[in-house]
Amino acid sequence: MPSRRSTAAVLATVTALAVPAAAAADAAPAPTGGLTPQLTAAFQNARSHAQREGVALWITSGKRSWAEQDQMWREGIRTYGSPAVARRWVLPPGESSHVTGRAIDVGPLAGAQWLARTGPRWGLCRTYANEWWHFEVAPTPCPRMRPDAAHH
Ligand SMILES: [Zn+2]
Repeated sequence: MPSRRSTAAVLATVTALAVPAAAAADAAPAPTGGLTPQLTAAFQNARSHAQREGVALWITSGKRSWAEQDQMWREGIRTYGSPAVARRWVLPPGESSHVTGRAIDVGPLAGAQWLARTGPRWGLCRTYANEWWHFEVAPTPCPRMRPDAAHH
């Protein structure tokens, strides 16, 4: 049985964990292999334009193995207390675009904000309103963002 916790304690925990470690603004660059050719090309285009404009931009989490995503999913359930809440931030491996190489998380924050504005030029779209770091290839104009990963 989960222990009873005060609302304040739960809120403090949720706030502290609202940005998953893999997507923290200061997260280090991650390997870029394993992404679809479309996503690789789109990101390379975006990054070279960012460099020309003096904007730092890198991938903090790209392709993930099934096992890596499964571990994140299990940690998410532990962190958020239930699969239903965890799904807002992390999906099971069978549903994550990171496992199929069709999603990237980028940083730092300023770079992600730049990409949210300019990404549609290369078909790169922010997917979720609650994840400023998460981008996928999509037909432009970009579809409306979903509130979070729990909403399809
Ligand atoms: Zn992501």
